[in-house]
Amino acid sequence: MNRDKFGYDIDPWGSAEVKDYRFLMEKFGIQPFEKFKKLFEDNLYVRRGIIFGHRDFDKIIDAIKKKEKFFMITGLMPSGKFHLGHKMVADQMVFYQKLGAKIFICSADIEAYLMRNMDLEMCRRITAEEYLANYMALGLDLKKINFWFQSNYRVEYYRFRDQLSKKVTLNELRAIYGDISPAKIISVLSQCADILHPQLPELLGPSPSVVPVGPDQDPHIRLTRDLASRFQTEFRLILPAATYHKFMRGLDGGKMSSSKPSSYIALSDKPKEAIQKIMNAITGGRATVSEQRDLGGVPEKCAVYDLYFYHLVEDDKKLVEIYHDCRSGNLICGECKAKCSDLMAKFLDKHQKKLSAAKEKVEEFLEEKNYNEKR
Ligand code: SF4
Repeated sequence: MNRDKFGYDIDPWGSAEVKDYRFLMEKFGIQPFEKFKKLFEDNLYVRRGIIFGHRDFDKIIDAIKKKEKFFMITGLMPSGKFHLGHKMVADQMVFYQKLGAKIFICSADIEAYLMRNMDLEMCRRITAEEYLANYMALGLDLKKINFWFQSNYRVEYYRFRDQLSKKVTLNELRAIYGDISPAKIISVLSQCADILHPQLPELLGPSPSVVPVGPDQDPHIRLTRDLASRFQTEFRLILPAATYHKFMRGLDGGKMSSSKPSSYIALSDKPKEAIQKIMNAITGGRATVSEQRDLGGVPEKCAVYDLYFYHLVEDDKKLVEIYHDCRSGNLICGECKAKCSDLMAKFLDKHQKKLSAAKEKVEEFLEEKNYNEKR
């Protein structure tokens, strides 16, 4: 893992685990999201502090209040199954679409090819079947999104990506990313172009934008904002805003990662398979039932509690009940896992019905946009 210029281990291509969010915010100047909480109390991620930080989000609030155009931009990495960690970003897309944002989504197939050794045709299939279909099943209206593959897009985007390279030095990239290679340079500049290019005159022109990210992506955000400020004369770009959400703990206690199926529940996992993963998940329980009755559990250390907290229990009162029952020893882990499994099975059952309908529509969407042409 590379250390960035502040000596903090945070690597967009690594397996960053953040132990102390406050430290991270202080080091990198990420502002607390707290002041916007009242405005978005309906949103579980905001209400529960899962979205914990931002840069420049006031610009988005302004645009919403004045009913001015703004856009949300995000990328997907087509290298594995769509899991509950990815659902957090998809839910935010739906949220912003409902707020009136234009939604820009990039399939980072070139980055997957360069950095993860993926085959481009496989990337196309994963993009369609795993990501776009799940977005649709979760409520995103694909007819209203702007979508592209990094490997196959419009001339203005590639011209802009090349132009960006003029105002960044190799030393700067080394300071941010540590070891740098031609493949990393292409990936980094593509990401900057992904985020900024909707502001080109051929697209929306200068507009406020927001990128929802995990803290591991902050190096990209910082560089993109620096580059935007260096291209004021040519493009009058508005520096993109960003929001930062906490990572969901993996079921095995580490980071939830696409390369470790035991760490996540995919939204296409059969309920039986998901239940098995919940039964094997790490908890904050005690060594014996009697110890747990006496001392209570530790939900803060529990991957099962995270499933309730991030996805399965919308009602705050019910969540608080689970928390106190765990803490007081009223609830023991076997019983709690069974309850969680039941909720998860219901969620997956319902979701997967929508998912199979969505898969057919996604193919139509890609046909219509000519994304199925030979590339
Ligand atoms: S009772 Fe539930 S929330 Fe508490 S530690 Fe056990 S599994 Fe986790």
